[in-house]
Amino acid sequence: MNTLSPQVIEALKAGMRGPVILPDDPTYDEARCIWNAMIDRHPAAIAQCSGVADVMHAVRVAREAGLLVSVRGGGHNIAGNALCDDGLTIDLSGMRSVHVDPEARRAYVSPGATLGDLDHETQAFGLATPVGINSTTGVAGLTLGGGFGWLTRKYGLTVDNLIEAEVVTADGGRVRATAEDHPDLFWAIRGGGGNFGIVTQFVFALHAVGPTVLCGLVVYPFAQAKSVLERYRDYVAAIPDDLCVWAVLRKAPPLPFLPDAVHGREVVIFAFMHGGDVAEGERLIEPIRQFGDPVGEHVGPAPYSAWQQGFDPLLTPGARNYWKSHNFAALDDGLIDTVIDHAGRLPSPQCEIFIALLGGQANRVAADAMAYAHRDVQFVMNVHGRWDTPAQDDACVAWSRAFFEAARPYASGGVYVNFMSADETDRVAAAYGPNYERLARIKQRYDPGNLFHLNQNIRPAA
Ligand SMILES: Cc1cc2nc3c(=O)[nH]c(=O)nc-3n(C[C@H](O)[C@H](O)[C@H](O)COP(=O)(O)OP(=O)(O)OC[C@H]3O[C@@H](n4cnc5c(N)ncnc54)[C@H](O)[C@@H]3O)c2cc1C
Repeated sequence: MNTLSPQVIEALKAGMRGPVILPDDPTYDEARCIWNAMIDRHPAAIAQCSGVADVMHAVRVAREAGLLVSVRGGGHNIAGNALCDDGLTIDLSGMRSVHVDPEARRAYVSPGATLGDLDHETQAFGLATPVGINSTTGVAGLTLGGGFGWLTRKYGLTVDNLIEAEVVTADGGRVRATAEDHPDLFWAIRGGGGNFGIVTQFVFALHAVGPTVLCGLVVYPFAQAKSVLERYRDYVAAIPDDLCVWAVLRKAPPLPFLPDAVHGREVVIFAFMHGGDVAEGERLIEPIRQFGDPVGEHVGPAPYSAWQQGFDPLLTPGARNYWKSHNFAALDDGLIDTVIDHAGRLPSPQCEIFIALLGGQANRVAADAMAYAHRDVQFVMNVHGRWDTPAQDDACVAWSRAFFEAARPYASGGVYVNFMSADETDRVAAAYGPNYERLARIKQRYDPGNLFHLNQNIRPAA
């Protein structure tokens, strides 16, 4: 099944500066490896693009030959749509350049860049734009779905900071999308995922951040989970935008600041970052230490780019992952009970429940200002089912699904498109919410044949 005709392969290779990897190539297995080890797909060819010309060429060949197309940025997406079986994967992961104009406070970012690449370049000038919390995530997929992290309450979602994008459309042409130029396309790519074309450059607004921020973890024993989560809920209702605090329930990793007896036991972790004045941050975070009797903490000033890598050791590639996610406008009492119930039955030491705090600037943008619609969401909960061996698949997937169902009555109904698993096609409409119809019309204009459909797919309007 893994074959393209020799003519198509020749046509592909003839117009590419970067390599075309075929199944008999010694680097094929490495080239088809992505973050989630549950994904085992075999593309017929992987076009490792070196620049925009390669992307345009690959799209034209795929279109003319009627190939199935997948698009790979950083390769982190849980659903695994970066790869396809028996089609052409257009792989952008080698295009990692980031150029910063510090005077204009702009970053020009290629589509294979990771969050770490972006932070590295921008922090050299004391600048940053809001992105996610794991430095190996790709800027491309994260941005196209929305993008949030420690700076989001202060500066909004990643898409709120997108100024311009270069897009290779389904006909193999190249357009520039801004608020003035192709405004519909620009509206659609800010939350509409990879449905509308292949973005070959992102231009972001930058803000003064750090380089030193106050950040860290305060850890509580599981026995105190109910009271500390209730206090967390009350506390975050009144904190300023400079401060962001997430709650994580999991088995404690062997962190050196935790007593040995706690390692491997369930804990509640409050992870935070304050991007403003460090002394002010110290004052503001003091109540986190008073939620109960902490079992340990690791708190202090640190480089912003180091904090951006703080969770990397828990989120390394190569593990098996199954995620479920809900949006919440509030943390109801019943939800807190449900979280604690399921966090007390974690099926593997790597499974965890993440409660991310949004609000602030993320919620001051109109729901129809761009494709990303979920502007009333205060908390995004992500059920990270994560484990090592296929033998654990059933137990870990079942736990994730059971918790997701139990939490459903408290959820706001929408879902963050970037956290959706492969089996959630029934939630696509909820992911785009009230903006779906407009997105379908824009899809009809820019990709009427649905060439880019390996994603959380928006069908072209009739
Ligand atoms: C460990 C981990 C931590 C995460 N943390 C956060 C977080 O803190 N905040 C957050 O908001 N999200 C987070 N995410 C979710 C993340 O935003 C998505 O997984 C995102 O899709 C990753 O982008 P990528 O480019 O790495 O993925 P890929 O799998 O390469 O791409 C995902 C999809 O995006 C599309 N795509 C990719 N590149 C392009 C392009 N250039 N043009 C058009 N379409 C394209 C394709 O449809 C592709 O299937 C996290 C994910 C992981 C695995």
